[in-house]
Amino acid sequence: MSDPVITADELASYVVCPTQYEFEHVRPISPRTDHSDVTFDRRRELLADGLLAGLTADVGSPAARARIATERIVGQWPTTVDSYVNDEQQQFDSELLEAAISNYFERFGAEHAEGLVETNPVLGSSFDGIRYETEVDALVETESGHRAIRFLPNLYGVHPAWKDEGLVEAYLSRSEFYPRQIGHLLRAWTALRGLLSAHGMDADVEFTYVSLFDDVRISYGAGSDPTASVTMRHFQELFESERGEIRTLLRDMGPKIIDGEYAIPDADRSLIADNCCEFCPYQDACPAYIRSDVAFGDRAVQEDGN
Ligand code: SF4
Repeated sequence: MSDPVITADELASYVVCPTQYEFEHVRPISPRTDHSDVTFDRRRELLADGLLAGLTADVGSPAARARIATERIVGQWPTTVDSYVNDEQQQFDSELLEAAISNYFERFGAEHAEGLVETNPVLGSSFDGIRYETEVDALVETESGHRAIRFLPNLYGVHPAWKDEGLVEAYLSRSEFYPRQIGHLLRAWTALRGLLSAHGMDADVEFTYVSLFDDVRISYGAGSDPTASVTMRHFQELFESERGEIRTLLRDMGPKIIDGEYAIPDADRSLIADNCCEFCPYQDACPAYIRSDVAFGDRAVQEDGN
């Protein structure tokens, strides 16, 4: 019998909140369509689709690749507001998108296109009787090995590469609670382990988040275009330093996901309420959140003495 599968998307939502995982993956309910996470996901999908179209196009120059990618995305790029205040605002958004895509193809796109092995491959490996899988946007051959790439609009919630190690240990002991960072790390872990299992444990492998809009410069002079520089975040070093703690985390979390344990542990209730509920796209449908809201309301009334 083959091992049950857990995806990196599932891990990423379970570390934030088991109930959020249930809403996303077990009995899906629609998130609020105007939520920033929903806009982010849509932008991410569009970005990956457009950049892959540029990378796989049968053209030579970075400018031609950028044009193909831009044409694919522009016009569909969701805004975070219902409508633009004026035409200039819409124009600015389009110019920024174009600038970000051009920058990617000028700086890295040629190299990625040349080394491209596969688009949207699923990478995975088994650990303790569970198979962990993730789809990455691109797999490229480097001078010394392989690099898996995931495109992102920005690096919100991705662990800063320069920060000290101990990220997972802090999460396990709850001395720090940055579940989004853990989710991004688990995606990297899944991809890197998948690459190692495909190419050998000594292979030179890397997982990289490529962000297009983290370094944006806005020019206010007449006729000046905005600029956007690509930011990369590599995860091989963090993967090495956090390996043992990730195993500990997955030995606890993997079986719970397989066994269908979606209740929030008592010990995590206040942490999740303080750090996650505010940003959750399922607030309106979440009984745990609605109940706690009522409880907070009652408490406020009692404290006021009214
Ligand atoms: S509102 Fe809070 S408790 Fe409910 S699913 Fe979202 S994060 Fe979890």
